[in-house]
Amino acid sequence: MKLYTYLFNGKEHIGAEDNGYIYPIEGYDTMLSLIRGNNITVSRNNAVKIDDAVLSAPIPRPEQDIICLGINYAKHGEEAAKYNKEAFLRDQPNAIYFSKRVNRAVAQGENIISHSDIVSKLDYECELAFIIGKDALNVKKENAAEYIFGYTIINDVSARDLQTRHKQWYFGKSLDGFTPMGPCIVTADEISFPPKLYIKSYVNGELRQDSTTDYMVFDPAYIIEDLSAGMTLKAGTIIATGTPAGVGMGFDPPKFLKRGDKVTCEIEKIGKLENTVL
Ligand code: MG
Repeated sequence: MKLYTYLFNGKEHIGAEDNGYIYPIEGYDTMLSLIRGNNITVSRNNAVKIDDAVLSAPIPRPEQDIICLGINYAKHGEEAAKYNKEAFLRDQPNAIYFSKRVNRAVAQGENIISHSDIVSKLDYECELAFIIGKDALNVKKENAAEYIFGYTIINDVSARDLQTRHKQWYFGKSLDGFTPMGPCIVTADEISFPPKLYIKSYVNGELRQDSTTDYMVFDPAYIIEDLSAGMTLKAGTIIATGTPAGVGMGFDPPKFLKRGDKVTCEIEKIGKLENTVL
């Protein structure tokens, strides 16, 4: 099932797609309350044609920072270390976790804010994100799948200058308008586990990233076991699994984003997330 947050009569609604239409889901005001309730009853009234719908990000206002994986595809690790060895060289065997503040996630079709007054090295990162469906503590890999509610696409927009200048990546990842998310959440039952999905991105139609999610170094089962050993991952937690090679800093010379560029992130079975830099 593809789940959307969308505007109808000036108000946010939660709905499920069927045959090109979004049908409202009864009983929940937000995607987060639906995730916690996890009891989906679709109404047959007030359907909206999907092409006419005004979408919000599926979780427009996450309750906690997004948890992100750093350097979780080997070839992206190589390109990043070539760009800035000190900041990105991966020299330890464990997963790299960092967080990303999201005051408001950017919807399909909305703008990425360039912040050109303080950012000159703006970059894109197409990523598969998964959403935790029930509180997870001390979960073993073999049981991890049952804790995943669904999957979405995140563009982990990054200011490379801020990211490297401050050592910790938090600020350079967290500016307003830096987290396009969507267009929908695909429920976990529709995606094999571990997910093996094509993942691509384009800038102004030029293919930049072209990989599959089974090249991840640490997969969702590993991540859930690793993090939940001592830290409860609450229902609604969003975890972005890192980006494959082909980001702007990976090119020589780098291809950073500028105003007017259209970035398309695409993941098989989820869809396309398209945003223009403002
Ligand atoms: Mg990233």
